[in-house]
Amino acid sequence: MSGGGAATVLVVGAGINGAALARELTLSGCDVVVVDDHDLAAGTTAWSTRLVHGGLRYLEYGELALVRESLAERERLVRVAPHLVRPLPFYLPVRGRFGGVASAAARVIGLERLAARCRGTRGRGSVAAGLGLTLYDLLSTGRRWPRHRRVRPGTPGLPAVDREGFPRALVYVDAQLLHPERFTVELLVDAAAIAAERGRSLVVHTRARVRIDDQGRAIVEPAVGAPTHHRVDAVVNVTGAWVDEALAGGLRALRPADRRLIGGTKGSHLLLDHPALRMALAEHGVYAEAADGRPVFVLPFGPRLVLVGTTDLPWRGDPWTARTEPDEIDYLLAAVARLFPQLCPGPGDVVQWYCGVRPLPAGGAAAPAGITRRHMLVRHPAAPVPAWSVVGGKLTTCRSLAESSTRTILATLGRPVTGSSRDRRLPGAVESAARPALVAETARAAAALGVAADACHEAAEATVNLFGSRAPEWLAGAPVAGPPLLAGTALPAAVVRACVRQEWGRTLADLVERRLMLVFTEPLRRTTLMGIAAVLEAEGLLPRGEAAAEVDAVVADLAARYGKRVVDDRSGDDCTRKEL
Ligand SMILES: Cc1cc2nc3c(=O)[nH]c(=O)nc-3n(C[C@H](O)[C@H](O)[C@H](O)COP(=O)(O)OP(=O)(O)OC[C@H]3O[C@@H](n4cnc5c(N)ncnc54)[C@H](O)[C@@H]3O)c2cc1C
Repeated sequence: MSGGGAATVLVVGAGINGAALARELTLSGCDVVVVDDHDLAAGTTAWSTRLVHGGLRYLEYGELALVRESLAERERLVRVAPHLVRPLPFYLPVRGRFGGVASAAARVIGLERLAARCRGTRGRGSVAAGLGLTLYDLLSTGRRWPRHRRVRPGTPGLPAVDREGFPRALVYVDAQLLHPERFTVELLVDAAAIAAERGRSLVVHTRARVRIDDQGRAIVEPAVGAPTHHRVDAVVNVTGAWVDEALAGGLRALRPADRRLIGGTKGSHLLLDHPALRMALAEHGVYAEAADGRPVFVLPFGPRLVLVGTTDLPWRGDPWTARTEPDEIDYLLAAVARLFPQLCPGPGDVVQWYCGVRPLPAGGAAAPAGITRRHMLVRHPAAPVPAWSVVGGKLTTCRSLAESSTRTILATLGRPVTGSSRDRRLPGAVESAARPALVAETARAAAALGVAADACHEAAEATVNLFGSRAPEWLAGAPVAGPPLLAGTALPAAVVRACVRQEWGRTLADLVERRLMLVFTEPLRRTTLMGIAAVLEAEGLLPRGEAAAEVDAVVADLAARYGKRVVDDRSGDDCTRKEL
């Protein structure tokens, strides 16, 4: 319930946009109730290419305002979350010089069909790419952000892209958000801290359904436990690709117009375990065109893996059921082989894939790539309380989306905007200069938990990588029962307890996929999952004796949704690849 005259806003959906909005609203003194029917960041946020970028490609569609906004946010997010958002140089290889100028010009003036006809077989050339990057640089507000440059393919330190096929190249810098899941969690951790500082409340319900009644009250029904009732002053539907389903379900009292808001497209990614390819990237992302002219990214993903994406296919149906299809795997592998023919990764190098649906506005352009990536706040005028749905949005613009939405919501409620996230750092923010001291402090905390002396530094590195400046605090308190490290990892088992107590982690899947990011470790072992399940048992989140069954369920789910094989190390079985 709201108290002290503050407005209470219900935020439905806890992806990156819902979390950013909740945080922005707490900064202006609102009480906020967040409800997600799965977990934080369980939707499209986790299925993205994980870039914080201006969107060079959007220039061709004349989206100058979106690119400018995205570039400003890129600069800001690197500053407020340096532990999660890191600049990444991109290598842009091209086949010729003048290709793509006519098609880009046709696209800028909205002639998509003509653009496709003008594209030619050699794709975008260095002149068109250089013009685009010059505009990109001009739109960039970051005074210290490096400008693009032409480079000579084959120069040491650059990606080893095929020089015969791509004799010219440019380098520019964007940013990578390796773990948008953790970014989302930290947004809400910060929102909780802001609410506590201001004597306001932030309530987060995960795995809960919300229903609005005709008086505009919210009834939250958790999967476990009794329903709670909240009197709310405004409702915001931030369910991304599920906006229409939410409006047809628990939010139908908002009386939405009789037309779909979302017309998403599906995009798939592959994770490759191919050491030679990983090395060939030389710590750059590669941004190129596939044979059909679609953009493709080949990105370093941590120290070992390579992320390749993405496809862009019209999608109808429940976004939860979207899966990477075999022909998408072939398409993405062919795109990599075109760039690195000497390495030619195959299906056996694919250790997992994932697939998501972009929450794009319905009724967009003929070609999926041409649908605007701008976000908009759609009002539901017949709702019993002021209510909106968020349509579109990118990871990159989550903060600016939250800021502009908050302005609209508070103006409607007749309340002032009293805070801003523009310069507010996320709780785990740490500069690289401060990292060695932080690692040393975390190593001491690990030692106090009983981690062997020779394993403390690695444990500290792993903990700081995930939790940034909060790492020592994460290891505070009494040791958890059992081995001090999670089997098969460098992570202290105590981090599981911290994620449960301070980050709304409830299930084994929450911990593996969206708190500890173990879903992306290769190999992932069954004993690791059992170690996490043991802590969940101790925290009362898993009934005694059900750990093995829970682990089996997660193993099956990871196979179905990511094509990922968990190594069954109960019998000393070692890593062999799953054939995809
Ligand atoms: C293939 C692909 C690549 C992308 N790459 C990038 C990129 O590199 N950079 C970038 O900036 N953007 C990228 N994007 C876009 C970006 O990922 C999304 O726009 C963004 O994550 C959307 O976040 P969201 O919070 O709006 O939605 P989501 O992350 O989908 O969150 C919606 C939440 O609502 C919950 N929910 C659903 N229904 C209900 C309900 N009825 N009740 C309660 N909760 C509900 C879900 O569980 C989910 O947690 C990409 C998208 C895709 C698909």
